[in-house]
This record gives sequence, C-alpha cells and structure tokens, in this order.
Amino acid sequence: MNVADSYHVSSSLEQLGYEATRRADDADIIVLNTCVVRQSAEDKAYGRLNSLRPLKKKRPDLVINVMGCLIGVRGNEGFKKRFPFVDVLSAPSNPDPLLRYLLEREGKQLEQNQTEERFIRMDEELILPVNEQGSLISSYISIVLGCSHACSYCVIPYRRGVEKSRSPEVILSEARSLARQGVKEITLLGQIVDRYGKDNPEYPNLANLLRSIHEIEGIERLRFLTSHPNYFTDDLLDAVAELPKVMPHIEVPAQAGDDEVLANMRRGYTGQQYRDLVQHIRDKIPGVSIATDIIVGFPGETEQQFENTYQMLADLKMDVAHLARYSPRPQTLSARSMEDNVPDEEKWRRFRMLEDLQEGIAAEIHSTYLGARVPILFEAKQKGRWRGRTPTNKLVFVESDQYLLGKLLLVEITWTGPWSMQGKLA
Ligand code: SAM
Repeated sequence: MNVADSYHVSSSLEQLGYEATRRADDADIIVLNTCVVRQSAEDKAYGRLNSLRPLKKKRPDLVINVMGCLIGVRGNEGFKKRFPFVDVLSAPSNPDPLLRYLLEREGKQLEQNQTEERFIRMDEELILPVNEQGSLISSYISIVLGCSHACSYCVIPYRRGVEKSRSPEVILSEARSLARQGVKEITLLGQIVDRYGKDNPEYPNLANLLRSIHEIEGIERLRFLTSHPNYFTDDLLDAVAELPKVMPHIEVPAQAGDDEVLANMRRGYTGQQYRDLVQHIRDKIPGVSIATDIIVGFPGETEQQFENTYQMLADLKMDVAHLARYSPRPQTLSARSMEDNVPDEEKWRRFRMLEDLQEGIAAEIHSTYLGARVPILFEAKQKGRWRGRTPTNKLVFVESDQYLLGKLLLVEITWTGPWSMQGKLA
C-alpha cells in the first residue's frame, strides 16, 4: 500500500515539474513514506529519518516530508518537536500537504477541489512516475483505505483511519490509465480487501469490481490482497474461478491456529473455521495457491497454543506463510490490556520452528512444478536473469537473450527450491 501511495506522490510531484533522483544527496525534496506495523519497521523509519538530519543541516532549503503511519490520519503531536528539521507531515495516502507546501512556497494554491480527501475522490489519471513508465509491468491500486476491524494487536486502524472504499469509477479510471501506460498486472489492495464496498451501498462488491476491471484491454492479470476469512464469500470465489485474468492466488491470513489466541486477537473465527475455508477455496479453485500470515508469541501464548498453530500449518500445507513475532503497538487493545510475556528468545524459537516447517512445505509444493509448462508474466530483470511469476504467484527465473519484460510466455520449469524456481522458454 505504501508503494502504491508513493506512486501517487511521485506522480503528483512530476506534474509540478520535479523529477526523480536516486541519491538523497541530490534531492530537493525527500519523502519518507513510513510503516509502523511492527516496532522493527518504526525503528527503521526513525533510523532513516535521523540519517537525513545532517543533510538538512548542510542544505536548509531541502524539503523533508514524512508521510504514512508514523504520522497517521490524526497527526503526531510530539513529532514536530522531536524532529524540527522535518518540513511537512502527511497522513497515509495523502500527498496534499506536500503539494500545498510546495505551491505555497511559490505563492500558488492547491485548486479548490483538491482537498484532504482528493486521493479518495481523485478522478484524474494516475500518470506513473517517469522512471516506471513503460517498464512497470505489475502495479497496485488501493481500493479500500483504512480499516475498521480492530484486531487487538493491530495499529493500522489508528494510523490509517476508518475503512473507506474508493469509488468504482476512480478505481476503473486508475486501472485504465495504468493499462494505457503498459501495466499488465494489477493487484487491488485493502487491509481487508474483501470488505470492498461494504461501507457504501452504491458500490459493487469485490467480485463485481473484479468483473468490471476484467474488461479492460491490456490488463492480463488481476490479483487482490489481503482478504479476511470472515468476508471471503462464494461470490468472490466464483469470480476468481470464472474470470481467466483473475489469478488463482489468495492471501488470507490465519494469524494463529489456536481458538483462545484467535479470540484474544479478536479475529472472529476459530481454527476449524479457518481450516474449513482453506478446504473450501481448494475445492472451488483446483490448483489455487494460498498464503497466510502468522504471528507467534502473542501475549499469553502457551507452548500448547503454539503447537496448535504449528499443527494447523503442518496440516494445511499453505503455499506461503508470512511470519511475524508479536510486537506490542501503541494504542492497541493487546498492548493496553495484555502483558507481552513471551520472552524474545522464545518468540524467535517459535518463529524458526514455523520457518523450518514452511520451508519444507514450500519446497514440496514447488517440486510438483518440475517439468511443467507454466505461463509466466515477466516483470523485471534481476542480476542478469528475467524474473516472472506463475499464475499462483511463484517466482520463476529464466536466462534468455530475448527481451522478455512484459511478455506472457510458457516456461518449462527445470529447477525448484523453497523460495523460487528456474525454467526455460518452452
Ligand atoms: N490487514 C491485513 C490483515 O490484517 O490480515 C494485513 C496487514 S499487516 C500490514 C500485515 C501483517 O502484519 C498482519 O497480517 C500480521 O500478521 C502482522 N502484524 C500486524 N500487527 C502486528 C503486531 N502488532 N505484531 C506482529 N505482527 C503484526
């Protein structure tokens, strides 16, 4: 989502006449787009911010903008005092404070209709930043901003604000604009993407939104993330199964496999319900890949409760498991009311146990691709090899003298490992 937000910032700046530079030393404006979902992300943001301090001292005319969850939709009171060298603070998904600052410096003003909510209502084209034009094969569109679910561990609702779906017209116009600029694959984004439209009775649901975007010429693949198990309807599954451009890959986090931990997390389902959903998705979409997220070391998580999560992953054999160690976040229910009492070494141990388990599962799943011919969309060149993805979102590397960027080609898989595969053009 921050990547998508950053495209909007770059795009807006280019429309004001600025251009991108790779080195902070050369920049007139630096935008630090921040994430605080775990303490480690927040530490990284502060580390980067502190590294800019000497630059600003050397060049006081440099504009520094801190954007995103470090600031949040309600602003960050003490921030200006701690970091007086920061010129502009902006909420997630909102390039306006920076644009206003730059225009006001030149004695101009943002147009009347360019209010705080411009991003949500924006009906103008998203012109991709120049360095991405013609080379960005896969891009993102945020379709649901914010989140109102309030999982007990999660800071996102406090920083990104209440759930708000963007209008289908704006989303379609952004998708058409990306297609015209050569983008072949779009991933629709939301903290709970399958809640799309639930906050506005006039909007379609995600299944119907996918059907509309599916019509756009030039778009060859569609994906969406992240889904919440409770909102994953049959209608959505039917859309994935019926629409050839919608890829058979679902990101639907479990977070834990133990009922008590799930209840403490306020996730709203049991381990068995999650298991049933995974089975149902697999029944409806043969060959589907499913990714999950798991948090280990949630407050009070006992060895037995962790074992229940371990067993669920071992039984379900998910394609991907994004693993995290619990990190208490300010304002959240779990940080306010539950002691972070699983020691760090124990969190690491549980994390590594799941990592080892998942490595074996992924290697086993990938080995079934050996010798298969799979359609790969090539999205980049990385260390001399072309990098692409299978419909199921698995990374495939191919060596070839041909120019493959943006091509959708059949590849024969010749090698598989737990994290990626290799192949040759078939
Ligand atoms: N909104 C999505 C959801 O709730 O499933 C994903 C959002 S979040 C950016 C990605 C992942 O970060 C979550 O799925 C969760 O596993 C993890 N996460 C969120 N809060 C966390 C916390 N306090 N400590 C550790 N991991 C956390």
